[in-house]
Amino acid sequence: MAKIGFLGLGEMGTPMARRLLRAGHDLVVWNRSPERTAPLVQEGAAVAPSPARAGAGADFVITMLATPEALEQVLFGTGGLAPALSPGQVLIDMSTVGPDEVRSAAARLPQAVSLVDAPVRGSVPQATSGRLDIFVGATDENYERVRPILEVLGSVRHTGGPGSGAAMKLVANLALGAAIVTLGEALSLGESLELKPKMLLDALADSPIGPIVAAKRANVESGQFAPSFKLRHAAKDLRLVTKAAAARGRELKQARANSEWLDEAAERGAADLDFSAVVATISGAEPSPTTGR
Ligand code: NAP
Repeated sequence: MAKIGFLGLGEMGTPMARRLLRAGHDLVVWNRSPERTAPLVQEGAAVAPSPARAGAGADFVITMLATPEALEQVLFGTGGLAPALSPGQVLIDMSTVGPDEVRSAAARLPQAVSLVDAPVRGSVPQATSGRLDIFVGATDENYERVRPILEVLGSVRHTGGPGSGAAMKLVANLALGAAIVTLGEALSLGESLELKPKMLLDALADSPIGPIVAAKRANVESGQFAPSFKLRHAAKDLRLVTKAAAARGRELKQARANSEWLDEAAERGAADLDFSAVVATISGAEPSPTTGR
């Protein structure tokens, strides 16, 4: 069993850390808001007062943080993890931050410390039951080192060398953003053409966006958008998509339009609701903040 530092106990980090603990690993946790460590401490994790202390002596350190800025702060800010890491330790970043941030962070770690990018597809239910899809960017050697740890959390896919997991995650979330905005626009058009909501959703369930209809139909029908994958993160991901594409001279018109819808939904109060709340924004409804947690 490994000694693991786990940093970032949000919606995803908490159930992921719990699975590692239940698998018998020795866990030291840290979170910016310390009260979120309490449930895991009750279950046997140790708590560290800073990212640096959470990484001390660990075989692996996992980060599951909101944004590139959060990762930057946790690695290189006051009490940050990076300077405290020593040769042979492996940092596994599972946040969605994009390949440019991952490569920039890797270049600033102490010598002989490896960074493996392993962002995930799937949400809170998959994180809880160990059924995440994990995109792993790593050398062959590091992939073999991290595989037994990551297999506790889901199925692992070796996407290529360092940075490729973060890159694949952006591609995956481009597709997710397109699917949810397409559902929103399809429903908006259908309503305007006076089609019955149930018939409309039944027909769309058999269309190319069937999987997103199945996943989010209950939210759409109830008008309740309690967050599983927060809209603010989906909006952040589409901004990372368009930024990464622009930096490489690619024009992604549809992704840009989808990004605008998510940003608009966030501005209109849905940032902390589930990302499917963009469907309500597109049809002109205001999802009430009280419908989320
Ligand atoms: P979340 O619930 O919002 O949690 C975010 C975590 O980041 C919290 O631990 C938060 O600490 C921490 N954080 C934010 N800003 C920080 C800062 N400046 N310094 C230090 N810590 C900071 O997010 P989540 O849903 O767990 O998602 C985590 C990552 O996984 C994101 O990159 C997201 O895009 C990605 N992801 C999420 C899902 C999903 O369905 N939720 C699915 C796939 C991938 P506090 O507790 O102090 O706020």
